[in-house]
Amino acid sequence: AKAAGRNGYRFFAPEMSVEAKTRMKLELSLRHALERRELSLHYQPRIDLKTMSIVGMEALARWHHPELGDVPPMQFIPIAEENGLIETIGHWVLEEACTQAQRLLGKFGRQLRISVNLSARQLKSRSIVEQVRGVLDRTGIPPQLLELELTESALIDDIAHSAGVLKQLKCLGIQLAVDDFGTGYSGLAYLRRFPLDVLKLDRSFVMHQDEDENSSEFIKAFVDMAHALKMAVVAEGVETAETLQFLRNASCDEAQGYFLARPLTLEAFEAYLSRLPAA
Ligand code: C2E
Ligand code: CA
Ligand code: CA
Ligand code: CA
Repeated sequence: AKAAGRNGYRFFAPEMSVEAKTRMKLELSLRHALERRELSLHYQPRIDLKTMSIVGMEALARWHHPELGDVPPMQFIPIAEENGLIETIGHWVLEEACTQAQRLLGKFGRQLRISVNLSARQLKSRSIVEQVRGVLDRTGIPPQLLELELTESALIDDIAHSAGVLKQLKCLGIQLAVDDFGTGYSGLAYLRRFPLDVLKLDRSFVMHQDEDENSSEFIKAFVDMAHALKMAVVAEGVETAETLQFLRNASCDEAQGYFLARPLTLEAFEAYLSRLPAA
């Protein structure tokens, strides 16, 4: 106990690697990030590929650390997932995203769908269904305009449990999407066990579609299979005009990507909406 506690050196022992120290530092400051208002959301437009008009937006978490600057979500979300903070952060994301979406619906008079990422840990949380119900009640957002994105790996981690939770969430009238689809695991057969509305193709193969014939073939096959299961297909990571055209030809329903629009701050997203032709 003596060695461990002395001057807190247990935490920043000299033999720790630089990465381990950075991670420890991130973990400690992430505990206060919410109360210190260091977290915010960016919104990335989602475009209907038939009409080419905006149909919704994905809320993406951002963390501005006072010393380290912007910490990417790929860095802090896994930490939050591991130490359990994701439950608090995820709840905040859901509440903030729905609050802003409901305000934007009123302000711009468009039926925009708000998509929120739900982590594996949140899906396992006992209170998740009550949380979502509470957010719908408090914000007054129409349930069909809220979509929750769950990764393929989170869903198949405990199929029986996930299926039960998804059924309850579906009863609230919201939309459910499988995120990062195609990154491995299981194929489409297991998807039939979940009440899913939307399949999001992972950006790793959407991005390489124009260089890689396999990716193109996968995308076409997934679109057809998803449609057979009555799911809409969303492609993310659309970076070129060629990929956009390919997806339209492949009957993909919606898309997101830097070629269409980057994730935007709330202010920039509002400016984007005000520049659009009337709905
Ligand atoms: P994701 O859910 O797959 O989100 C899409 C990511 O692709 C975002 O990265 C977005 O900025 C990026 N992206 C969009 N269009 C393009 C493109 O054309 N090209 C490329 N190269 N990238 C594009 P971001 O914002 O860095 O988020 C990374 C991941 O962090 C997300 O991947 C998601 O898994 C996680 N994440 C972000 N916010 C949240 C959150 O609130 N809760 C949870 N649980 N996870 C989150
Ligand atoms: Ca997502
Ligand atoms: Ca994704
Ligand atoms: Ca991803």
